[in-house]
Formats: sequence, C-alpha cells, structure tokens
Amino acid sequence: MAIKVAINGYGTIGKRVADAVSLQDDMRLVGASLTKPSFKAVRAAEEGYDIYVPAGQEKAFGGMKIKGSISEMIGACDLVVDASPEGVGEQNRALYRKAGKKAIFQGGEEHELVQASFNANANYDAAKGKDFVRVVSCNTTGLCRTLNALKPFGIENAYAVIVRRGADPGDSKTGPINAIIPETHIPSHHGADVQTVIPNLPIVTAAVKVPTTIMHVHVISVRLKRQAAEKDILGAFESENRVMVVESGMGLKSTAEIMELARDMGRKRSDLYEIAVWKESVNVKKGVVYFMQAVHQESGVVPENIDAIRAMFSLADREKSISKTNKTMGIR
Ligand code: NAD
Repeated sequence: MAIKVAINGYGTIGKRVADAVSLQDDMRLVGASLTKPSFKAVRAAEEGYDIYVPAGQEKAFGGMKIKGSISEMIGACDLVVDASPEGVGEQNRALYRKAGKKAIFQGGEEHELVQASFNANANYDAAKGKDFVRVVSCNTTGLCRTLNALKPFGIENAYAVIVRRGADPGDSKTGPINAIIPETHIPSHHGADVQTVIPNLPIVTAAVKVPTTIMHVHVISVRLKRQAAEKDILGAFESENRVMVVESGMGLKSTAEIMELARDMGRKRSDLYEIAVWKESVNVKKGVVYFMQAVHQESGVVPENIDAIRAMFSLADREKSISKTNKTMGIR
C-alpha cells in the first residue's frame, strides 16, 4: 500500500519534498497546494502534479487546471507535509487534526507543536507511529548528523558557531547585503533545537548571518569522553549517512566550489543533500575535536521528510528507510 502524501506549501522545501515523494514506490503524491497564481503553480503543473488552491480561488489561477480545494487535498491524503512559511504550520495543524490526518512540519515551527522532532540518523524511532512530527531545520539537521557520528566517542560538551546564509538564492525579500548580523543572544536557539532530537546533549551555539545565499557554515568543537585520533573522527564522518568529507586541497576551498561540485553532480536544482565536512578542518587537540562543515539549506532536510513518513507509518526500520531514500534520491 502506497502512503498518499499531500504537500501544503510549494516553496523552497515543499517543491523538493514533492519531487522526492514522487521517487518512492511506497508513497504516492496526491498533489500540492498553491495559495497564489505564480510561476511556482505553472512549474508544479508542468511537473504533472495535481494542484489544489484555497476554496473559491480557482478563477484567480486563470485557465490552469485545478484539482480541488486545499481541504479536499487534505481529505484525499494519508499524510500532509506542511512546508508553509514559518509559523503558518502552527495555524494549519488544526485543519489536519480535524481531518484526522498525520502531518510533518518543518524546522520553522516549534517543537511543542509535535510529538517528536526528527532526524533520521539520530532518532528515527522517535517518530514511529506518531501523528505529528517536525523535521528539524537545516542547521539542526547538519549538527545532528555529525554529532551523531561522534556519539561512539562520548560527547562531554559541544560548541558550534553557525554562519548563516542571509537568504535563499530564489529569495529577494531579505538580507543582509552588506553586513554581518550577529545573534547577540548566546546561546542561539540552535543548540536547544538539537536537544529536541538528542536530549541531554550539552551543546551551546552562537550564530551570525552573512551576505551569501548558497550555504551555511558551522565551526564546531566537541570535547570527547574517549580518546580519538583525527583518522578515527574522519572514519566516523565517512561512515555516517548523508555526511560527505570534502578536501580543500582538491579545490573545494569554500561553499562556492562545493556548490559547483553539486552542480557538476547533475542533481535536480544542484541540490546537495549531504553535509560537507572539510577534511583539513578535522583536528584533535587535548581531547577536543575541531571541524568545519557546510550545509545546503535548501535540500538537506528533504530526505529527512521521506524517512519521517516511513517512520510515522512504520513502513521500514531506520536502516532500510535511509538506504531506500538514499538510493532513490542518488545520495552517496
Ligand atoms: P517558502 O517561502 O520558500 O515556501 C513556503 C510556501 O508556502 C510558499 O510557496 C507560500 O506561497 C506557501 N504558503 C503561504 N501561506 C500558506 C498557507 N497558509 N498554506 C499553505 N501554503 C502557504 O518557505 P521555505 O523556505 O520552503 O520554508 C518552509 C518551512 O521549511 C519553514 O518552516 C522553514 O523554516 C523551513 N525550512 C526552510 C529552509 C530553507 O533554507 N529555505 C531549510 C529548512 C527548513
């Protein structure tokens, strides 16, 4: 039986999750909601996706073929992936509850909205059988993946500085364009967000926003309980799902070259689902491991949404789901 999935919010995350759902043989895409006529609606139609719009708004979409209203879309599915803007998911939850449908929310929503915050590597089983799950943000996903890889060494404490992109590449409404904006409150919210997935992990984070659109960078230090050499840490990163070790010495000196590599890999929209850890940055000094990683904010959480669906319907265990998602999406 294929799980019927609807996408409510066809933006940066929603359109990618729609594509990823379409690749799964145990899921079927019911369609996607579009709140306004735009190029996004035209593109969704060109992809062959059924389009649902707010009730009574059909005429605003001109001659486009509209399948039905958003409530009809919710009625026709088993699960909604809510990828609406930050804070809107909270309002939408009542619709899903009323219709008796499961839902996945994204990282812009609060942990309190759901029964489990999710990262496939770190806590797949926490979503098993749940009705409301949140796939944590791109930054939290990045931290969860690499910190999960370090768990076997024991984590005494972790500190991460997050250098955040100012906007997504397709976004013209935010910035900065000529400033670095520190989040002057330390700790930033990201550490507490990691703890929604890995409880009791002693982590402090700080964040600054910079004028770039292509990726985030994290500078991380972790005090380990057990001794480890650089090669052990690199081995742990290399064997962790959806983590990719890259070498500055091979020309991957910055996020620019990493995104160029993603373009060369030929994936749709040049997405890089993996967290890229710079090999040269991995250093161990007096029991502390230091490293730097880059996060493709637009795509890193997409495979997590697919695994969350499988966990919520108990379709597969963690290893099977991750490996199926990776295979269908071409993740190494
Ligand atoms: P987006 O603005 O690109 O897309 C949101 C879409 O939802 C838009 O197309 C908008 O028209 C539509 N929408 C607006 N109101 C709606 C409503 N009431 N019902 C349904 N759809 C509605 O946003 P995004 O960047 O895709 O972010 C979506 C969620 O994913 C947020 O929670 C965000 O924090 C999270 N997230 C974003 C990123 C990122 O880098 N963009 C990364 C990880 C997680």
